[in-house]
Amino acid sequence: MIILRLAIPSPLRRLFDYLPPSDEDNADLEPGIRLLVPFGKRDVIGILVEVSDTSDFAINKLKRAKKRLDTTPPLPQHLFKLARWAASYYQHPEGDALQQAIPVLLRKGHACEHQHETLWRSKEGATISQLKANALRQRELLTLILEHPQGISEDAIRAEGGNTQSLSALEKKSLVESFHREHKLAIENILHEAPLTLNPEQQTTLAQINKHEGFSVSLIEGITGSGKTEIYLQAIEKALRAGKQALILVPEIGLTPQTVSRFKKRFGVPIAILHSNLTDRQRLDAWLQAREGIARIVIGTRSAIFTPLKTPGIIIIDEEHDPSFKQQDGFRYSARDLSVMRARSENTPVILGSATPSLETLHNAVEGRYQWLKMTQRAGNSAPPAFKLLDIRQEKLSEGLSNQLVTAIGQHLNAGTQVLVFLNRRGYSPTLSCNDCGWIADCTRCDAHMTLHKSPPHLHCHHCDKQQGIPQRCPECNSDQIQPVGVGTERSEQALQNLFPDFPVIRVDRDSTQRKDAMHDIMNQVNTGAPCILVGTQMLAKGHHFPKVTLVAIINADSGLFSADFRGMERTAQLILQVAGRAGRADHPGTVMMQTYHADHPILQTLVEHGYSAFAQEELHNRRIAQLPPYTHYALLRAETTTQYRAESFLGALRQQLEDDMLLPHGVHWIGPFPSPMEKRAGMHRAQLMIYAENRKALHQLLANLCWYLEQNKEARKVRWSIDVDPADTF
Ligand code: ADP
Ligand code: ZN
Ligand code: ZN
Repeated sequence: MIILRLAIPSPLRRLFDYLPPSDEDNADLEPGIRLLVPFGKRDVIGILVEVSDTSDFAINKLKRAKKRLDTTPPLPQHLFKLARWAASYYQHPEGDALQQAIPVLLRKGHACEHQHETLWRSKEGATISQLKANALRQRELLTLILEHPQGISEDAIRAEGGNTQSLSALEKKSLVESFHREHKLAIENILHEAPLTLNPEQQTTLAQINKHEGFSVSLIEGITGSGKTEIYLQAIEKALRAGKQALILVPEIGLTPQTVSRFKKRFGVPIAILHSNLTDRQRLDAWLQAREGIARIVIGTRSAIFTPLKTPGIIIIDEEHDPSFKQQDGFRYSARDLSVMRARSENTPVILGSATPSLETLHNAVEGRYQWLKMTQRAGNSAPPAFKLLDIRQEKLSEGLSNQLVTAIGQHLNAGTQVLVFLNRRGYSPTLSCNDCGWIADCTRCDAHMTLHKSPPHLHCHHCDKQQGIPQRCPECNSDQIQPVGVGTERSEQALQNLFPDFPVIRVDRDSTQRKDAMHDIMNQVNTGAPCILVGTQMLAKGHHFPKVTLVAIINADSGLFSADFRGMERTAQLILQVAGRAGRADHPGTVMMQTYHADHPILQTLVEHGYSAFAQEELHNRRIAQLPPYTHYALLRAETTTQYRAESFLGALRQQLEDDMLLPHGVHWIGPFPSPMEKRAGMHRAQLMIYAENRKALHQLLANLCWYLEQNKEARKVRWSIDVDPADTF
């Protein structure tokens, strides 16, 4: 008896038993292959997890799988295991997790192979004169094809106005033929350009990384500009020379043409780039090229962690502290944490690099689990900036700017250099309010204000995306005295333009960079080196270097100091240093001015006077005392309901039930339930229960119990709930 146990894309945390498609052809039923199976009223793609000879269900009740879609599994066994492990660690239904580990087209049942595009070329000796003078369409088409000796695709032919009839006519006359371009393993030269000569600090760092054979984890804690990327490039070169491949993960916001071009300039090998603008087809092709060993370097964001490599050689996580490595919904995995698991199973090194490492990673380094490599000097033609706190308690601000700051901006511009103004709020102002009655433009679906935008003019909720027009009069008291409150990037841009009419002000945020080439154009303008003001959000903090910027102005350094999230301080420090790191060259060292109402805050002072390492050490100490991660392990059970209080009472009852049944392992603690910091979002009422333990095993034991309860619980079906293990934020 052969029973197939399949993971099915369904919210149920269990596998489903099926009979094989036929009783004859059952060779090599390897875990990981896809099968088309009936499920309820639909056919779905199931992934084989194990083959058994027994079932808990009556054999005659089992359905037969309809069709086998793979002869060999799309994912190699160790990655298949990694995805399964991640499903269980992050408490996510296995069917969905395994689907997310493969490209979209494979989830939809497409064949796991390249789609070879059909191209057309002329046959030898074909000329226009072989066609009748009045066969105009055919003559035009042949001319077009003759212009493309390397071949032209059918799509391109159609785009140029050619049609299939003329094409087959030409083919019948033996003037043209179709062919497929093969993906070749063509490596001419590993290097396009010579590597830089490493400075002593870089030499030591690279030597430490290369010291290990096989699996090792290294943290490079190196200030911005210390030459981390150069180390990555040379570590990758070593892997390539050994005939192996490299996988590089970068933050979502960091996968810029600038990053990519640095790799392309250095290496002559094929590089696969998994960016978000790829079509599903292009993504599958890139994925296959990685799997077949054609692409020697793979660069991608979070989801690239599951990309198979034929000859894995090294994994690099750039800006490892970046929150985008943790998926925030559905399958809530951390690609950074999985990269360490993956490297172990592939027996390769993994490098985690950052100027501002996460406290989790630093803790691992402190404890000796990761090799800790520090780089404190700038490598190239640049100097680290000097920090200055601007105490604005007694100041009258104009459009968010203090006099001191405006003066400084003017001085830098007049000296012929550039200024970067950082403000982490897009839009014109965070809200709109009535001077007469105090009405505030709130989102009806969220506990949040609507942001006022002026270009184009509208009110926008940044939490649920609701948009509406700007009222002319107060909806409460009909007064016309309604005014924007607070400053966003659009308003700051306008204010700076009024203050400095002789200099261009360039805004960089999600709104101003929507057009495809917008960022490219902005960088071109900045790279001319002419004095200007860049004003923008954290989009300015990553991936770009602005050598002509000598002043970085941080409008509000306090935003995370009193956050409800215990990571608020860490995130603020990281953001400040990342923005600060954009500036300065050896001949123009940068200054960072930070406006604050808490200039004597000990944490800000440590950061400014002693740098990130000192800050992180203090913050780790605070976390230890407060029993917070990385000293304890956290999970968050979130619940959402359409009516108020339901989510909270549901979580309360659940907690009670588990306590009554004495299913709380020793050493596991609860906090809550309480309403989420933003209780209402997108029309849903939200509550959460925080669970923590010193011991990971105990935590996971409880989470497993919890899932079991939730799946049995009838109430739970009316509630949208989710579990977040190692949450990146506690909102
Ligand atoms: P990071 O990734 O740490 O921010 P980069 O690798 O981007 O640092 O290096 C910063 C600048 O210094 C780049 O312009 C780079 O070309 C230059 N650089 C790095 N290493 C060297 C070196 N050994 N010699 C000369 N310039 C270097
Ligand atoms: Zn009013
Ligand atoms: Zn909203």
